[in-house]
Amino acid sequence: MELKDQILKWCAEQEIPLVGFAPAARWDEPLFLPWVPDEFRPRAIVPETATVIVLGLPVSLPVVETAPSIHYHELYRTVNTLLDMHGYRLSAWLTREGHPSTWIPRDGYGSIAILKENPVAFFSHRHAALLAGLGTFGVNNTLLTREFGPRVRFVSIFTSAALPPDPLITEPLCTRCMRCVKACPVRALLAKDYPDGLTDKRACALRSEALFKRSISPCGLCIRVCPVGEDRKRYGRTDMAIYDEEDDRFSRYHQAWKHVQAYGGRKTSSP
Ligand code: SF4
Ligand code: SF4
Repeated sequence: MELKDQILKWCAEQEIPLVGFAPAARWDEPLFLPWVPDEFRPRAIVPETATVIVLGLPVSLPVVETAPSIHYHELYRTVNTLLDMHGYRLSAWLTREGHPSTWIPRDGYGSIAILKENPVAFFSHRHAALLAGLGTFGVNNTLLTREFGPRVRFVSIFTSAALPPDPLITEPLCTRCMRCVKACPVRALLAKDYPDGLTDKRACALRSEALFKRSISPCGLCIRVCPVGEDRKRYGRTDMAIYDEEDDRFSRYHQAWKHVQAYGGRKTSSP
């Protein structure tokens, strides 16, 4: 069996739904400007890299709908842990098989306080997922996927193995509905396509910090309302009026979300 097929088989056994392969050379052909600076590219970080393998795990829509909440907080932590475990194990297996590989953690920062000072990580998994053909950028600055819209998190593995690349998605998945812009409580999003409309990362980080102090970070409101993603059909959430608090047809859902939000987190961010 070819190495790529072996990797896909392993991912299927781990129930990883999104897997993409991007040649490291793709980082040297900017798709738009501003592009990934030289020192943030895979071969600048690990010079032997030939291919970047990107794995994606979803955050389930009914849990994101309760955000911000302890439920989403715990889901986020669990998905992050799984991503790091899968990334570590796959890179270790590839290395044992004779293809030196390096796992890149799904988050590249130590705390929200650090993120406020310097709001970038040493490597962007969103750009890696784009270049691995898993999705396209949305107005909310996340990577939208066909399967889960923006409700997905990624991890990357740099490998010295030259593997067949996956094609890029050429048509934008974002419908430009601007629901994300309207949903943001701190106006961190501009009603413009990425990268013309870059998130106000400081405003977003400040909100995240306040929610963290209440044990209910991250925020998630801009990914909650995004209409893109097959997961909406799976969960029966195609009528976007469900997020209109005034629409009595969905009051059962609104009550359920309020119930979850009322427990497990501090009411205020004061100590
Ligand atoms: S995560 Fe929250 S604060 Fe940040 S951009 Fe999205 S809605 Fe705004
Ligand atoms: S909510 Fe609408 S505008 Fe925002 S990313 Fe999703 S599709 Fe694009």
